[in-house]
Amino acid sequence: MSERVDLFVIGAGSGGVRAARIAAGHGARVTIAEQFRYGGTCVIRGCVPKKLLVLASRFADQFALAGSFGWCVGETRFDWPALVRAKEREITRLEGIYRSNLHSAGVETVESRAVLEGPNTVRLLAQDRSVHAERVLIATGGQPFRPAIPGAELAITSDDAFDLPRLPETMTIEGGGFIAVEFACMLQRMGVQVTVVYRGEQILRGFDDDLRAHLADAMRDRGIVIETNTRITAIKRAGRSAERSAESGGVASGDDTSGDDTSDAGGAARRGSGSRSPGYRMTLSDGRTIETGLVMLATGRRPNVAGLGLERAGVQVDEQGAIRVGADSRTTSQSIWAVGDVTNRLALTPIAIREGHAFADTVFGNRPWTCDHGTVPEAVFSTPEIGTVGLTEAEARERHARVEVYRSSFRPMANVLSDSKEKMLMKLVVDAGTDRVLGVHLCGPDAAEMIQLAAIAVKMGATKRQFDQTVALHPTAAEELVTMRTPLR
Ligand code: NDP
Repeated sequence: MSERVDLFVIGAGSGGVRAARIAAGHGARVTIAEQFRYGGTCVIRGCVPKKLLVLASRFADQFALAGSFGWCVGETRFDWPALVRAKEREITRLEGIYRSNLHSAGVETVESRAVLEGPNTVRLLAQDRSVHAERVLIATGGQPFRPAIPGAELAITSDDAFDLPRLPETMTIEGGGFIAVEFACMLQRMGVQVTVVYRGEQILRGFDDDLRAHLADAMRDRGIVIETNTRITAIKRAGRSAERSAESGGVASGDDTSGDDTSDAGGAARRGSGSRSPGYRMTLSDGRTIETGLVMLATGRRPNVAGLGLERAGVQVDEQGAIRVGADSRTTSQSIWAVGDVTNRLALTPIAIREGHAFADTVFGNRPWTCDHGTVPEAVFSTPEIGTVGLTEAEARERHARVEVYRSSFRPMANVLSDSKEKMLMKLVVDAGTDRVLGVHLCGPDAAEMIQLAAIAVKMGATKRQFDQTVALHPTAAEELVTMRTPLR
């Protein structure tokens, strides 16, 4: 264990690991500490396992569509514990790669909670020793936020959802953001009857209004109940199954079933194991009471700063508890920087990676640059999924005098032989003054893959005319992006 290092990184998630490797590559002596598992939220209980679960859930749609293409799919059965085991194997593999990449870069790894004792001193609690660091990088990420309501501790969060011993028959998810929507769609296709409780008028605040409405309609068409303008104000255990859940730590509810009960709203999936509902009774802010097998709070995430010793090191936080940083990720302490979700700038993995890389190049590589937080493509891995980049129509109208909107809605080819009515939505928001494409908003199959490429054009400042000059690739859904000729408004 080095007693003096050039850089001490607290937290081995996306941002911390990238910064440590790049700094070591520039010749710095680097130590990184992690209190949980290497890889952080993205690898262990975020993007990666989530996407695996989403892919698993979509087989339900494939089985349902197969008949329209002449396939006879026999009885299907979904085995949740098998999926959890497979997911665990993959994230363990990735965790190993994160560690070995750090070792090959010459970074020293430590398994311990690390806290600040001062601007240049880090205490490793598991080893009961301190390290002197010329510079410190805080990359501790975030954690789920639970509203202060009676019984909040009875609910699970996304941290628990990835490793549930079994799926409940019914589930209520509070929140209308990324996590609520993604889990609602995924679990519905795995056979869970899902209710979303959201305090606002429409899910996915901040996204383009047409996308929000399109996805909400598609979710309702699949049988997901979305209760808007209401909140959960209290959660209690209900019935015999609830007592069982208390024994199993509060994250599982109910009796095991034989494994052959068919799904209802999902239609296509059969649960390998399930649990009888209800397990919990919730009071809503509009006075109603609803019962459910399991409650999940997807009410946002907060920066992980508790007990880090920030005040001892002169590191200030904002009203949300996020570490205050400048464009160069430097905190209010001259020797300490912070990147990723703990700074609450844009809580996305690729942003944390860039912030970490920029920090390491700037401070240790004599190559100063900063992460550009503008025009970042985003995806919501709902089904149908959302891909979006640039300004929403509402934002564009606030900032530009004349805005043109091009919109297309059509049945994806995979659906045309079936009786599925689900449509794909594509929308371009254009500044009529300069002809520049300000925003692209997609909802439907492969929207995330498409938006990554469309984002290059938007970032380059492409005009609508340049979109039109690009020859369509037929037959694809993406060709609609270059064939929308007449503005809707
Ligand atoms: P979000 O901020 O996306 O959504 C939080 C939701 O909870 C909002 O609908 C919010 O309502 C609601 N909410 C907040 N506080 C309360 C409260 N006290 N009572 C009731 N409802 C409340 O957070 P998520 O937890 O979904 O995700 C966290 C972050 O992780 C995201 O912001 C994103 O950056 C990242 N992420 C990215 C993904 C991706 O890229 N695909 C996937 C998952 C997460 P309101 O809208 O009214 O504020």
